[in-house]
Amino acid sequence: MSEGWYELLKSAGEIARKVREEVRSRVKEGTSALEVAEWVESRIVELGGRPAFPCNVGVDAIAAHSTPTRSTDYRLTRGSLIKVDLGVSIEGYIADTAVTVPLPGSDEGMVLAAERALQVAVRVSRAGVPVSTIGGAIGDSITSLGYRPISNLSGHQIERYNLHAGLSIPNVKAGEGRLERGKVYAIEPFVTKTDATGRVVDSNSVEIFRVPQTTLERASRLPKEQRELLRVLYDATGGLPYSIRWFKWLDSSLHESLYRRGYVHGYAVLVEKSGAPVAQAEHTVLIWEDGAEVLT
Ligand code: MN
Ligand code: MN
Repeated sequence: MSEGWYELLKSAGEIARKVREEVRSRVKEGTSALEVAEWVESRIVELGGRPAFPCNVGVDAIAAHSTPTRSTDYRLTRGSLIKVDLGVSIEGYIADTAVTVPLPGSDEGMVLAAERALQVAVRVSRAGVPVSTIGGAIGDSITSLGYRPISNLSGHQIERYNLHAGLSIPNVKAGEGRLERGKVYAIEPFVTKTDATGRVVDSNSVEIFRVPQTTLERASRLPKEQRELLRVLYDATGGLPYSIRWFKWLDSSLHESLYRRGYVHGYAVLVEKSGAPVAQAEHTVLIWEDGAEVLT
């Protein structure tokens, strides 16, 4: 990493924590999901960061990878669990964090179980600990409170300009590898009901995209207009995820066509298979010999 990486990462983490804490009071019955997402993204910029990915707003069974657009916007309603997942990038150093806000009439216990599991996971994290030990601690903590972990969603290593790098950190006792000193990881327990499947599946919706660097090489034979669009999207995002609502000038049918032909990567919205509500908590941590430094 370049000089000053620790300070940049710390700053990204501080902004992420501040925005996460501030957004809690903005998640209310009747508010539009788009308003929440756009507020989060503009607040990140105001505080000196850039969104590392579109602000995710996940209602109930929508576990991950959903961000509202003008055409898919909706109002938050009573009885819902609202997950807000946000990322801050400063020169590509990324902090990833999430909070679940239980609207009146929802199961607040699920939120507490996700937060407790995250605390437990942070406590056992240090250099050399197998990811399966962390996953086991997360899963046991959730189960002991009468809920079920989502077994096929996991935390992840983070590298510069790379949100999902290398190692995965499961939410159940599984997986290979150990945490390493000086590396950055997102830990993110997901909680659902005991009678739910406890697995997420891809829905048909794709709301978050990414232009990988490898696309630019492959795109050399495309018509100029398409090649240039991919280049502009890559330069604007550094290869990190984006929403089409960020680019008001974007020709959405051209974008759709590039996605269909595999030049643009899309993340399917992930939903709990049995339709049960899901709660999430997430921190980004930096691993040291004797423990985990919570950056968010
Ligand atoms: Mn996240
Ligand atoms: Mn994450």
